[in-house]
Amino acid sequence: MYTTCQKCKIDFTITSDDQNFYKKINVPPPTFCPDCRLQRRLSWRNDWHLFRKKEARNGQEIFSIFPEESPIKIYDKEYWNSDEWDPTSYGKDFDFTRPFFEQFKELLYAVPLPAHSLLNIVNSPYCSNANDIKNCYLVRGASFTEDSSYLIWDQASKQCFDSHMTNTCELGYGNVNTVKCYQTFFSVDCESSSHLILCKDCVGSNNCFGSIGLRNKSYYIFNEPYTKEQYENKITEFNLGSEKSFVELKEKAYKNWLTFPQKYMHSRQNVVATGDYIYESKNALDCYRVRGVENGKFIQNVLIGPAKDCYDYSNYGDNVELIYESLVIGSGASNIKFSTEAYPNTSDLTYCIYCNKSSNLFGCVSLRSKKYCILNKQYTKEAYEELLPKIIEHMKKTGEYGEFFPSDFSPLPYLATAAYEFFPLNENEAKQKGFVWYTTKNQEYAITLLNKDIPDNIKEVGKDILKEVIECQHQGNCKQECVGAFKIIESEFDFCQRMNIPLPRLCPNCRHYEQLELRNPIKLYKRECMNSCGNTFETTYAPDRPEIVYCESCYNQEVV
Ligand SMILES: [Zn+2]
Ligand SMILES: [Zn+2]
Ligand SMILES: [Zn+2]
Ligand SMILES: [Zn+2]
Repeated sequence: MYTTCQKCKIDFTITSDDQNFYKKINVPPPTFCPDCRLQRRLSWRNDWHLFRKKEARNGQEIFSIFPEESPIKIYDKEYWNSDEWDPTSYGKDFDFTRPFFEQFKELLYAVPLPAHSLLNIVNSPYCSNANDIKNCYLVRGASFTEDSSYLIWDQASKQCFDSHMTNTCELGYGNVNTVKCYQTFFSVDCESSSHLILCKDCVGSNNCFGSIGLRNKSYYIFNEPYTKEQYENKITEFNLGSEKSFVELKEKAYKNWLTFPQKYMHSRQNVVATGDYIYESKNALDCYRVRGVENGKFIQNVLIGPAKDCYDYSNYGDNVELIYESLVIGSGASNIKFSTEAYPNTSDLTYCIYCNKSSNLFGCVSLRSKKYCILNKQYTKEAYEELLPKIIEHMKKTGEYGEFFPSDFSPLPYLATAAYEFFPLNENEAKQKGFVWYTTKNQEYAITLLNKDIPDNIKEVGKDILKEVIECQHQGNCKQECVGAFKIIESEFDFCQRMNIPLPRLCPNCRHYEQLELRNPIKLYKRECMNSCGNTFETTYAPDRPEIVYCESCYNQEVV
């Protein structure tokens, strides 16, 4: 069945499997296409930005994932989580003369939200969207990470720095999409390897440099084999601690990466999967960065399974089922629709935000351990069950039921949301499309060390550099949310010295955007295998990209 997207006006398909799912969870079919649904959902998600915002009780500025300019109120996380305040005191009767979203928006702007989404955090300042992390600094979107800094999207790594999309790595630096790698630097898409530098798509390999597509190999440089002694001499000769040498070698490695074919998707151990970065999943369609998904479609960033029978679901996971059009839902959640930030142990929530350990809620904000509430007002089970169908009927008439929260009352400006990374828009475009746009106050830095004055070699740098406010090489002249300056923290400095890695030249924001270039985007293209075997596939490698892209069987013949 074809239908036209209400938002972008393109036609999209609703398959009979899709229809069965919508029937199963009792929702009308969507009126937005999958991309517009993802963009709308992510326009409510701040993956990694940190702001200062006044706490609603005492006006003290605290760090928060919400900017000062946001119309919502925040409480310090501990107070928010306590019984010292009662979010049901904000409860409202449902008004059948008004649209639901209008009433929900008023509630959302009135009931304080937690400053952060953090759970079980030990000694980890400036971290957000994280659980069970310890001794971390600026680690965002992470679980079970320890002794690490400047990571975005990590799972269970230790002593890692400046990386994106890492999983169970140790002593890593500058990596993107690496799994179980030890002492690996500036590498991409590598797994179960150690001592790799500037490598891509290497598995079970160790002591390799600038190479791609290696399986169980040691002592390779730019895909050529060396003896152990030759290899070690070469690495010393490379003088990696020098920024100048490093930049040249990086360029050479990136060129070498383009000489070897890439598999059309990043995937392993799946039964029927489309999308990218999909692992150990079954019937996972149009998914991106998932593990343990079963019978799911349009799912992103769910790395802990099982996640069964979910559609249009972004972030988290861990034993969930029947999630639809929702964001940041996890730890035993079931039957959650049109909601964000529900964990742990939630069920039967619809149109809820920041509700924990609760069930049978509709249109609620910041409730903990509650049942049978609508717009934060407590009902008896009988009254709830009588009123709910009437509200859904009302919302069907107003055209609201079956759609996620509209982007225009998101508590976040578009630029600070995950939607911006996948669907970049400028101010005019964003406003035209109904997204929230305002500028947030940036901290001003007085630069004490110009970029050109950073000593070339890490060996020449002393500890005084920790005091300096260093100018970012991009000087704010890029589209990477450059903050213009940065500092080096002691653990990173020590690591770089010990491992002979030049100090970063970019501010953390610029570094993140540079790393995004090494991650494939979420968009799928229909392409043909470049080995002329006639196989076609859907891939996140756009047709105009320089990589050689192969189907699975042609690729498997190359990597041996
Ligand atoms: Zn659309
Ligand atoms: Zn910068
Ligand atoms: Zn930049
Ligand atoms: Zn092929």
